[in-house]
Amino acid sequence: MTNKTKTYDFIIAGTGAAGLSLAMQLKRSSVKFEKILLIDKDLKNKNDRTWCFWTKENHTWFEEIIFKKWNQFEFKSTTFQKKILLKPYTYVMIRGLDFYNYCLNEIKNDSRFDIITDTIKEIGTEQSKGFLKTENCLYQSNYIFNSAFRNPNTKAKHVNFVQHFKGLLIETKEELFDERCPVFMDFRTEQHNDCRFFYILPFSKNKALIEYTGFSPTALKEEAYDQKLKEYITNKLKIQDYSLLETESGTIPMMESEFTNPYGDKVINIGIAGGSSKPSTGYTFYFIQKHVSKIIHQLEQNKKLNSYSRNSKFKLFDRVLLDVMNRNKIPADELFTSLFEKNKIENLLTFLNEETTLVEDLGIMNSVSKSAFITSTINKLIK
Ligand SMILES: Cc1cc2nc3c(=O)[nH]c(=O)nc-3n(C[C@H](O)[C@H](O)[C@H](O)COP(=O)(O)OP(=O)(O)OC[C@H]3O[C@@H](n4cnc5c(N)ncnc54)[C@H](O)[C@@H]3O)c2cc1C
Repeated sequence: MTNKTKTYDFIIAGTGAAGLSLAMQLKRSSVKFEKILLIDKDLKNKNDRTWCFWTKENHTWFEEIIFKKWNQFEFKSTTFQKKILLKPYTYVMIRGLDFYNYCLNEIKNDSRFDIITDTIKEIGTEQSKGFLKTENCLYQSNYIFNSAFRNPNTKAKHVNFVQHFKGLLIETKEELFDERCPVFMDFRTEQHNDCRFFYILPFSKNKALIEYTGFSPTALKEEAYDQKLKEYITNKLKIQDYSLLETESGTIPMMESEFTNPYGDKVINIGIAGGSSKPSTGYTFYFIQKHVSKIIHQLEQNKKLNSYSRNSKFKLFDRVLLDVMNRNKIPADELFTSLFEKNKIENLLTFLNEETTLVEDLGIMNSVSKSAFITSTINKLIK
């Protein structure tokens, strides 16, 4: 039963990637506030994920905890294989636990932030205030930033996939990895009529995170990832002797359906709940940072916050790409091979970060099979 009420300027519901990114940016901003509550059911004390993204900035978010930065990566398929220099981009990797520790330590040192571990039962808007309920407490604030509850508005006609994966951090006795060059995508594996690939993030010459991943309507059974990873490590990478240090697994929504906000105008969804996962790639971290920066900018200017809406041009491109993959008109390995073989890497990465102009977009589209894309575009424009 709820028996206490506490009031805050802002509440951050969920302290994962989005919640902590927002707290850090708020702390460093000129936004005026006296008290902020951060609440999560989890202690965030496990290394449960590894984030990668690409950026042009020399000094980017969370510079202090970047674990690895690469200026090239390798793309591999059965017909095309290349180590690609990424200039002006770098491919950046942050370990989940480093991120949680770094953010929580900095926030704990600021008396304006209260951090509590509890399960959120309900959030919403009442009498022009956001409210959040736990078993024993009611909290109120001007805005609640929610990444804890996700509400996709799914419809039967939508193509909704997940990116699903399992990764093994392994250590070898011999120095077998090229630590200067991660493998971004390795499609040299059975596609099973959807989209499957491996990627390798080398931590050092004898330590690497090797992931098996796919884009499809549902995830696989645990044994399927283990079997594929074993085959890949033994047969493709020719590694016999290794020890397993850590594993990570999960799913990321790749959805045509949009995430909705049924909680009223004092709740602002962020992170995956706020639609930050790019439906055609699953990349999310970069989009979280962009969304959070936008929120801070609006707060600094005393503007009313409203729900985030993605750029409609890129929304359409993602829906078309999902449709092409769903209809399997072009096998995914061929599609990605065309994109990486025929485009300048700078243009492709800028496109995937949703920062290209229409002229640049047309260049990317020109690199893939027109007929499948035209049918899917018509399909999506009329639906
Ligand atoms: C293993 C893995 C690897 C990934 N790698 C990448 C990558 O390389 N690049 C990339 O761009 N994206 C990646 N992603 C996708 C995305 O960046 C992450 O999922 C990211 O953590 C999403 O941030 P979020 O804040 O929306 O959700 P989360 O980080 O999951 O945070 C949500 C928080 O809400 C809390 N919560 C939920 N329900 C309640 C409740 N009822 N009460 C209290 N608290 C609650 C959870 O405990 C959690 O801490 C990866 C995802 C996974 C799972």
